[in-house]
Amino acid sequence: MTLDEIKALVRTVPDFPKPGILFRDVTTLVGHGPGFSAAVDLMAERVKASGADVIAGVEARGFIFGAAIAARLDLGFVSIRKPGKLPVPVIAIDYALEYGTDTLEVDPEAVGEGHKVILVDDLLATGGTALAAIELLRRAGATVEHTLFAIDLPDLGGGDRLRSAGITVHALLDYP
Ligand code: IMP
Repeated sequence: MTLDEIKALVRTVPDFPKPGILFRDVTTLVGHGPGFSAAVDLMAERVKASGADVIAGVEARGFIFGAAIAARLDLGFVSIRKPGKLPVPVIAIDYALEYGTDTLEVDPEAVGEGHKVILVDDLLATGGTALAAIELLRRAGATVEHTLFAIDLPDLGGGDRLRSAGITVHALLDYP
């Protein structure tokens, strides 16, 4: 399956979640067996080349890609969760959204010193989520130098923000 064929499986939904926004929806790609498998294979190659030994993903769509890639490479997967979901004491980070703030949490027993983590998510927009997740993983003691996204929206500036913070950005598809 080519990258163009994989890209054709991503659904674009106008005016979601707000008027004027073009939402890139990976539900249709994930629901297509050969398409999802091909996307996971190509993303797994990027993880291998990064030298990371652990994959971390952000709830919820980061879990879909991150866990599938981790299983393909025999790597562990670390869940970065929305607040209040983990049954143990957590490390947490608050970060700014367009309106208000949000929080991400991780189990400090799941990741720490000596782990080289690559952060995986479905989509990179402004980079706020990825930067918060990276800071959280670093507070837990891990080394984080690489990120990997199924989709990058370069016009929203996330790639530039991450690169200026010294983070390498890999993406399977982009929508310039
Ligand atoms: P950022 O923090 O602005 O980079 O937004 C990225 C986060 O918002 C990711 O966790 C995405 O899942 C979600 N997101 C933002 N825009 C879209 C979109 O068009 N499609 C799917 N997810 C999106």
